[in-house]
Amino acid sequence: MNVLVVNCGSSSLKFQLINSETEAVAAKGLCERIGLDGRLVYQPTGGEKEVTEAAMPTHTEAIKMVLDALVNPKTGVLKSLDEVEAIGHRVLHGGAKISDSCIINDEVISVIEECCDLGPLHNPANLMGIRACMELMPGKPNVAVFDTAFHQTMPEKAYMYAIPYKYYDKYKVRKYGFHGTSHRFVSKETIKFLGLDPENSKVIVAHLGNGSSISAVVNGKCVDTSMGLTPLEGLVMGTRSGDLDPAVLEYICNKENISVSEMVRILNKESGLLGLSQGLSSDFRDLSEAMENGNPDAKRAIDCLCYRIIKYIGSYVAAMNGVDAIAFTGGIGENAALVRKTVVDNLSYLGITLDEEANKARGEDKVISTPDSKVTVAVIPTNEELAICQETAELVKNQK
Ligand code: AMP
Repeated sequence: MNVLVVNCGSSSLKFQLINSETEAVAAKGLCERIGLDGRLVYQPTGGEKEVTEAAMPTHTEAIKMVLDALVNPKTGVLKSLDEVEAIGHRVLHGGAKISDSCIINDEVISVIEECCDLGPLHNPANLMGIRACMELMPGKPNVAVFDTAFHQTMPEKAYMYAIPYKYYDKYKVRKYGFHGTSHRFVSKETIKFLGLDPENSKVIVAHLGNGSSISAVVNGKCVDTSMGLTPLEGLVMGTRSGDLDPAVLEYICNKENISVSEMVRILNKESGLLGLSQGLSSDFRDLSEAMENGNPDAKRAIDCLCYRIIKYIGSYVAAMNGVDAIAFTGGIGENAALVRKTVVDNLSYLGITLDEEANKARGEDKVISTPDSKVTVAVIPTNEELAICQETAELVKNQK
């Protein structure tokens, strides 16, 4: 089944056309600067990248340009749009009402609308993408794959914040977790790749990229995850602080005479690796190069990043009362041997030893612990677009 996978941001739209059976990507690209001047980057597999500058006032024009590019007689990969059998949308927040991917109908649209409060930057953009596809490809099934859905199996003790209960009652303030599509895909792949028992397994997934989160998965179900009400909680990320004492907000706001909103923006956009390195970079590659050249700011940022991962893994081993496998994924998890080594060397108390040679792995499923390790550690590349494609195809087939 040919599935168009769509991931809308407030002014951007990423897409891939994937065949769910062969897993082949026919074309991919992105629209940028939607609402401003507009730019489409389109790349058919095996072909040249094409850049088209054209006005796209809304997501509807952006999707229209993508569809035109896909059926373009010269560089397109489809004869007609009839060959697109379904559209899979990445949607950020499904709140507490949605625990799985679903075929989009009026009810699902109202839940996404209700959750705009919880995902103010993403949910409205996701809705625009959904409405545009419905308008331009009437009658095609659209599926929503939620970033929060996989984490809905967390027990109350893991998702509640210890604040007055009325805030949960009134506003649904709780931990939701994000990157769920990746955590689901990687935990499943880890169980399959390592031959674990799906009904009797404890896995920790460390999704480490520009945004990072970690999850504890028992028998294929998420029992805890590091991101919270928003993606700000948890690990040290590219520009997000992750965990901190909430009193820091008031303290800095008073000292600097800034608003809470401004402080939350700083915690989201100017903190993490970027903040710790005194503005050097939010990108791990830049920092690891600078650290090799003796830069103390880069070293501080990387030390803090690794230390937080080590602490979270330890706490999830405790939460699950054991662990069978730990999987690294995301741009840093899949590529940064240094981070994996620093983390795994600190897990010797679990009887884990790193296979230094295997740890050079990049871009493939690979065990990086030694055969005598009590817990298996692996690199498992994530593929969120493929996961969205597969979940979309499965739902649409089951509906037929
Ligand atoms: P993501 O958000 O998953 O795309 O990951 C982005 C992060 O992965 C950035 O911090 C990159 O510096 C890091 N990254 C990507 N490729 C590499 C690489 N080859 N080695 C080290 N870090 C990398």
